[in-house]
Amino acid sequence: MNYDYAVIGGGVSGMTSALILAKHGCSVVLVEKSGQIAPTIRGFTRKGLFFDTGFHYTGGLGAGEPLDIFFRYLGLSDHVNVHLFNKDGFDSFRCLGPRFEFDFPYGYDSLKERFHGAFPGDRGAIDDYFRAVREIYTSLPYVDLDSPGQHAALSSVHGPSLQEFLDGLTGNGLLKCILSMHCFLYGVPPEETSFAYHACIAGSYYESAGGIEGGGRGLTKAFEARLEKMGVAVYCGQEVKKIHVAGDGAVSGISLEGGTTISCSGCISTVHPHQLLEMIPESVFRPAYVNRLRQLDETTSACMLYATCSEPIKGLEGSNLFIFPQADFSFFHGSVPIEGRPLYITAAGSSARSGKQGFIAICPMPGAQTRRWADSVSGKRPAGYELFKKEMTERIGRSIEASCPEIAGRITDMECATPLTLRDYTNSPYGSIYGVKHRVGQYNPIPATRSRGLYLAGQAIVAPGIMGAMMSGFLACENIFGRDHLQEELKACRPEG
Ligand SMILES: Cc1cc2nc3c(=O)[nH]c(=O)nc-3n(C[C@H](O)[C@H](O)[C@H](O)COP(=O)(O)OP(=O)(O)OC[C@H]3O[C@@H](n4cnc5c(N)ncnc54)[C@H](O)[C@@H]3O)c2cc1C
Repeated sequence: MNYDYAVIGGGVSGMTSALILAKHGCSVVLVEKSGQIAPTIRGFTRKGLFFDTGFHYTGGLGAGEPLDIFFRYLGLSDHVNVHLFNKDGFDSFRCLGPRFEFDFPYGYDSLKERFHGAFPGDRGAIDDYFRAVREIYTSLPYVDLDSPGQHAALSSVHGPSLQEFLDGLTGNGLLKCILSMHCFLYGVPPEETSFAYHACIAGSYYESAGGIEGGGRGLTKAFEARLEKMGVAVYCGQEVKKIHVAGDGAVSGISLEGGTTISCSGCISTVHPHQLLEMIPESVFRPAYVNRLRQLDETTSACMLYATCSEPIKGLEGSNLFIFPQADFSFFHGSVPIEGRPLYITAAGSSARSGKQGFIAICPMPGAQTRRWADSVSGKRPAGYELFKKEMTERIGRSIEASCPEIAGRITDMECATPLTLRDYTNSPYGSIYGVKHRVGQYNPIPATRSRGLYLAGQAIVAPGIMGAMMSGFLACENIFGRDHLQEELKACRPEG
């Protein structure tokens, strides 16, 4: 078998990379370890209700925004129906102590007005914060297509941290907590994340927030249709074991579990950098580079609760709820009991046939809490693990009932997934929610490598999320086709008006 390019990993970044390559006339093979493509975002159906797993909502879907243009460019737009969330309150922050509620609208003017109303003494700090976020967000590659820009946002591992930046603006702890709330969407606490990195992710949600009909499965189906149409060969249930590099340092092929070898002159790896190191001959990279990749920290893992309810939950239509037991981020450190950790709550898909409704709650949980069962496999876990899962399900369920009167008394069934579930279903080595932690002062992997023809994409490169993953595909491919060229092609996909 011989292809121009092999793409390793069939997640959002791999599928994006494969489509860009195919669009440029390359023959492409996409290899995915799971039995089906896009295991992270594919979701699952239980008792007639569809539950999303790795994609609930995103910024950047509004007309002319980056994801809208990426979707048009890749031919996905004809296969997806975007629905924007509630413009007046797409995310609700609820603090339990002190009791405080705040709804995030999207659009900078609305955001500033809402914050000015809630924190009249901090108008200057609020304006400075949003001005800085907007400036950094628009300097991300492929966000402002008219900007020749230096893309300063990609140096986001440099300080100040989000915490330092906010400390410089205000002493109001509650305001700082609300402005930091979206660090939930990338799994790094405010004192560790750079302000620039926070701005890259939160900035996209401040412009607009939305989802896709059918959730992650809807998006996956769109990708599948396009991969087929563009002639990309997709191998699922096949683990890449080796990337072959010839004597001149150029990629020459990959080997799959079972021994099949595929020849290729280029390869885009979208797997976790630690998994990449297992595939590549040790001599290819410099020891310092290998050490840097090995030392990359991981984002937190989580416990996910999937619940069915007797009726639709008011407030979760076009909106998410973030519950904070207290107005700080100390839960990221130490052994805070599950009741002391925040929760992200979002609606599950509805089934027209059964009329059932439900929700998904995500609670950050260190992977260490399930480490003692790490050697077990899904479907054959020991009784102790099942007991742990049952206890977590009940405790998270009780926390939700106590803090959410709109949900209390309406839960009909609950089940939870743990860090081990995440590890095994997404094939991520440690079961973290967002893979590598992008933190201040840490080396950030870039798409180009020392090996000719080998490029990196995936959530470790720019940022997690559908937008970060898709953007990483463009960044990897610009090494092949040039940024100016891709940027010009994307410009041609802008909606009219
Ligand atoms: C619980 C949860 C909720 C989330 N919610 C949101 C959300 O609401 N909005 C949002 O934008 N983002 C969300 N995310 C983040 C988003 O899902 C991810 O950042 C994104 O899907 C990552 O895509 P990727 O292609 O970089 O990585 P992955 O999806 O991890 O893709 C890598 C692929 O490589 C495969 N693989 C690994 N090793 C091999 C091998 N040796 N050979 C072949 N294949 C291999 C894996 O099976 C995997 O499919 C969420 C994530 C989680 C876990």
